[in-house]
Amino acid sequence: MSNNENLVWHEGTVSRKRREAINRHRGLTIWFTGLSGSGKSTISVALEERLTNMGCRTYRLDGDNVRTGLNRDLSFTPEDRIENIRRIGEVAKLFRDAGVINLTAFISPYRRDREMARALSSENDFVEVFVDAPLDVCEQRDPKGLYKKARAGSIPNFTGISAPYEPPEHPEVHLHTADKDVNGCVDQLVEYLITQGYLENSLVAAAGAGSA
Ligand code: ADP
Repeated sequence: MSNNENLVWHEGTVSRKRREAINRHRGLTIWFTGLSGSGKSTISVALEERLTNMGCRTYRLDGDNVRTGLNRDLSFTPEDRIENIRRIGEVAKLFRDAGVINLTAFISPYRRDREMARALSSENDFVEVFVDAPLDVCEQRDPKGLYKKARAGSIPNFTGISAPYEPPEHPEVHLHTADKDVNGCVDQLVEYLITQGYLENSLVAAAGAGSA
């Protein structure tokens, strides 16, 4: 059992604000959610590349990568999916405190789990991105061959086939990946970050990515 009552948060002298000032952008989480094959990994990789080229500090947390390390003890049962998202939410919080733009690419099918991750954030440093493509488009893309296996019954609890996906009701950004290519989706996201003031004008101007 833990001794929570004896734990005392130890404050350092370097604040999040100081780290953000050095980075010239806010620490924030860009939380991608959507069906398997909707484009979360592809877009998060492309956005990370774009932001890094602009001079931002970024870090990407991706479903399979996390499940082979931090969360390798977790399965896909409803309880383990909750614990998967809880841990990722806590890691994302650490990255925000480090002043880093962290991009998370997880199906995260349940609204309440995404809300749990959001609840760990302070106002305005959690950007939920709905990566939206119709199920038949995702199934046609099937980049990892998972839909084929799920249809054959060899993957239980597969989101969209044998497990539900609850779309976000009020995502900060809604990407329609069947209608807009990867570059266009990245443009839409960078535009959002600029207009919402997440990136300092001096950084944006130096990168030539928008008006200062
Ligand atoms: P997810 O991470 O959501 O499971 P992936 O990024 O692994 O999805 O796969 C998405 C697939 O769809 C890739 O093969 C990608 O090339 C393709 N694709 C086609 N159009 C788009 C788009 N607009 N955005 C993202 N991916 C796209």
